[in-house]
Amino acid sequence: MATYEYHCHDCGPFEVRLPIGTAETVRDCPACLGPSRRLFTAPSLTRQSPAMSAALTREEQSREAPEVVTSVPGGRRRQSRPHPALSHLPRP
Ligand SMILES: [Zn+2]
Repeated sequence: MATYEYHCHDCGPFEVRLPIGTAETVRDCPACLGPSRRLFTAPSLTRQSPAMSAALTREEQSREAPEVVTSVPGGRRRQSRPHPALSHLPRP
């Protein structure tokens, strides 16, 4: 199904959901039954940032074939000093 946009001269634009490839160039307006011309508009595609696109691709791949790791992934090293806000807490 796809959404097609038409424009009635009297009532303005309206949308119709139809199977792909079945939209006529002229369709009756649902309000006044007058002839309405089909409008050709850009499809509603959105651009994503490269980071978001990569994350979505990785998430999609992990559904079927998740990555298997053999060791704990390296990350930030633990801080040697505790956070300064923790110094105000009572010690046991
Ligand atoms: Zn109309």
